[in-house]
Amino acid sequence: MDLHESASIRDFRAEAREWLRAHVPAEPLPSLETGEGFAAHRKWEAELAAARWSVVSWPEEYGGRGVDIFHWLAFEEEYWAAGAPGRVSQNGINLLAPTLFDHATEEQRARVLPSMATGEVVWAQAWSEPEAGSDLASLKSRAVRTDGGWLLSGQKTWSSRAAFADRAFGIFRTDPEAPKPHQGLTYLMFDLRAPGVTVRPIGRLDGKPAFAELFLDRVFVPDADVIGEPGQGWRIAMSTTGNERGLMLRSPGRFLAAADRLVRLWHEQGDPGDTALRDRVADAVIGARAYELFTAAGAARFAGGATIGAESSLNKVFWSEFDIALHETALDLLGPDGELADGEWAEGHVFSLAGPIYAGTNEIQRDIIAERLLGLPKGRR
Ligand SMILES: Cc1cc2nc3c(=O)[nH]c(=O)nc-3n(C[C@H](O)[C@H](O)[C@H](O)COP(=O)(O)OP(=O)(O)OC[C@H]3O[C@@H](n4cnc5c(N)ncnc54)[C@H](O)[C@@H]3O)c2cc1C
Repeated sequence: MDLHESASIRDFRAEAREWLRAHVPAEPLPSLETGEGFAAHRKWEAELAAARWSVVSWPEEYGGRGVDIFHWLAFEEEYWAAGAPGRVSQNGINLLAPTLFDHATEEQRARVLPSMATGEVVWAQAWSEPEAGSDLASLKSRAVRTDGGWLLSGQKTWSSRAAFADRAFGIFRTDPEAPKPHQGLTYLMFDLRAPGVTVRPIGRLDGKPAFAELFLDRVFVPDADVIGEPGQGWRIAMSTTGNERGLMLRSPGRFLAAADRLVRLWHEQGDPGDTALRDRVADAVIGARAYELFTAAGAARFAGGATIGAESSLNKVFWSEFDIALHETALDLLGPDGELADGEWAEGHVFSLAGPIYAGTNEIQRDIIAERLLGLPKGRR
């Protein structure tokens, strides 16, 4: 982005670009959905952190550079343009960390954030349950009071990268007598290797084993690992979802870089006579740029004191559908080879298909947009 970019952002961008040019691995790391890839990505996180590039917008005391959201957006552009690895720490840094900044104690922040920034502790999100996905408030996993803490029991599912992660954050029912399902829930952190935790990988289309379900049998969590007040889990969780659906999980930098790669592919392999496909490549460039500008406008509101609210659902619907269209265009350009090759585009395409489901399905996002942004009447549930 270069809309009146300040000198400070230009310098910051140049410093990031230079560092990334010197340090991004020449060969892509193995997939972070495998044990080998997880270890390689942890090392990369440590390298980023050592140069204070892993969490640029955090305060310096926790390993960041204390920069604002516009610097962060510039960093993201440079990061993805440099072809740098996917972030194995993304659940921690994009979801748990903003929640900790808003709701945790000083002690919790000091204890949790530095090891998250270095990739020493990688976090998984443990929210969904077999009967509680879209209707998350119907979750049944319990946390029962015990001396000095809580005992967790129940089943969580669809937990990204949980097979290799170290710790998880989730919501648990602490007051089964509460009058409404979203009351009596508590947000807490737990150890995935604690006694009573069983982690079972869920088979994926691509056979990679990191995605998992969790079985919890009286897992002890000390009081120190409860975030906010017991019973306030729903309110705290809703502040996390704004970050997940909004700009953090899918920053525009990723799509700008992907659209650039698509243009290169068109120049290498495109048939100049295929104007329909050429238009789809152009649409990808326009879409990435539109998303960048839309995000910049949101970031300006955020920097002006607004909170991330229901508009994050607009981002989510856009990036998930755009990601699929972009990858389908690439595969059509590659022809049959694209489907067969175990390459970046084919893998990216398979993953893009999950975009309308994770971080809250697009049907649910459309309901939120209709009700909260457009003021339409509530649908029948
Ligand atoms: C790749 C991937 C990664 C994920 N990672 C994580 C993770 O790390 N941690 C985690 O906790 N969860 C994770 N999830 C789970 C994800 O959040 C849920 O799959 C999602 O919220 C949908 O829940 P569900 O699968 O139970 O589907 P359901 O809620 O059963 O929905 C089934 C279908 O019905 C529709 N539907 C349901 N209710 C309504 C309604 N009221 N109005 C209109 N349509 C409705 C849905 O939109 C959907 O199309 C992940 C999922 C995927 C696919």
